[in-house]
Amino acid sequence: MVQRIVIENCAVATVDAADTEYASGHVVIAGNRIESVGAGKAPEGLADVVRRIDASGHLVTPGLVNTHHHYYQWITRGLATDHNLFDWLVALYPTWARIDEPMVRAAAQGSLAMMARGGVTTAMDHHYVFPKDSGDLSGAIIGAAREMGVRFTLARGSMDRSEKDGGLPPDFAVESLEGALAATEATVDEHHDPSFDAMTQVAVAPCSPFSVSTELLREGAELARRKGVRLHTHGSETVEEEQFCKELFGMGPTDYFESTGWLGEDVWMAHCVHMNDSDIAAFARTKTGVAHCPSSNARLAAGIARVPDMLAAGVPVGLGVDGTASNESGELHTELRNALLINRLGAHREAALNARQALRLGTYGGAQVLGRARETGSLEPGKLADLVLWNLDTLAHASIADPVTALVFGAAAPVTASFVNGEQIVENGRLLHVDEDEIARSTRAAARRLAAIAARA
Ligand SMILES: [Zn+2]
Repeated sequence: MVQRIVIENCAVATVDAADTEYASGHVVIAGNRIESVGAGKAPEGLADVVRRIDASGHLVTPGLVNTHHHYYQWITRGLATDHNLFDWLVALYPTWARIDEPMVRAAAQGSLAMMARGGVTTAMDHHYVFPKDSGDLSGAIIGAAREMGVRFTLARGSMDRSEKDGGLPPDFAVESLEGALAATEATVDEHHDPSFDAMTQVAVAPCSPFSVSTELLREGAELARRKGVRLHTHGSETVEEEQFCKELFGMGPTDYFESTGWLGEDVWMAHCVHMNDSDIAAFARTKTGVAHCPSSNARLAAGIARVPDMLAAGVPVGLGVDGTASNESGELHTELRNALLINRLGAHREAALNARQALRLGTYGGAQVLGRARETGSLEPGKLADLVLWNLDTLAHASIADPVTALVFGAAAPVTASFVNGEQIVENGRLLHVDEDEIARSTRAAARRLAAIAARA
């Protein structure tokens, strides 16, 4: 028996290819799939309806999809607040190199809790700091995501270019080339699920051109393609990175990535702020995806990514919060709003992005860059039941003319319910499967323990 949940009397933004919306509509969930979406009440006479939700005053959208994050940074928030990227990294690497498994577990729980209670249904973590003998960090992160009930991609990161090889991280913070590749392959073998309704996937994710050897990029790309998994890294984030690439490799970041096998429809890259027309054309030609992180780019004074130009060229673009050491809020709604507002400060002014486009970046666009657009990212029959009921019947939103405008331009809307794979994970803003207060306590303790260890070192 497939159990059905009926949601009705709500505004619906499907984010399908035609941007179909219903001022008053319904969504029917059957098992872990969306069975129907449409105008008016749900079809009559449905069998096995276990729950009927009157969602008056709500907007229902696909769940938000986060495409770039570093969970461990949850316990190093509020440090180096007035630095650019390279100075910020150099200030924080020595602390980050002291993380252990209990700290990473607590930080992952904190990051995931913030994501999930704000309407994220598909999350990801780019984890690239693996100190020697620090335990099973990948297992701890994946376990936290399972416990929370969110769909999840672990981008198994790595660094092997330290100061002695002209890189930015200190020598003690990196892995060997062979060690990083072997551990990444083992993580794929243990955790990657290729199925349509997979809750856990793994991507191969060397950290960045200035912390990774050319061999690790090349061999990482070969590994990912041999295993049929995706590739993720940071690219073209700052002017300093561009200079670094030109000095060390004799070319800019995009050309360097292309020379190492890192452009393709199975690749997505965080930031992509400093891209010229030919870089954008290369991403469009190869369907390489972008994780746009406007808050982090602003905090680190990196610049404004050319999102309207990328979209016009056909580049897949999703949104990312980035690690919370460069975006203390850690919630994705801010990125919808900031993507829209910050891009309007760029060349295209008021035509840069609209509210519907911002919602698409945060849902379908994210699913595209994570390689999950067939399964999630829009409300369509047959897709996975990953969706959010936003309460717009509030002081903050009730007088805003249009529900999608209220969601994107307005204050963060309360999440009345969030479903992942047909299972409810949030009710009235509270997580159903974990204790938020306990997580807050354990993350504070982990942050203090890490600060004390780093101060002694
Ligand atoms: Zn990042």
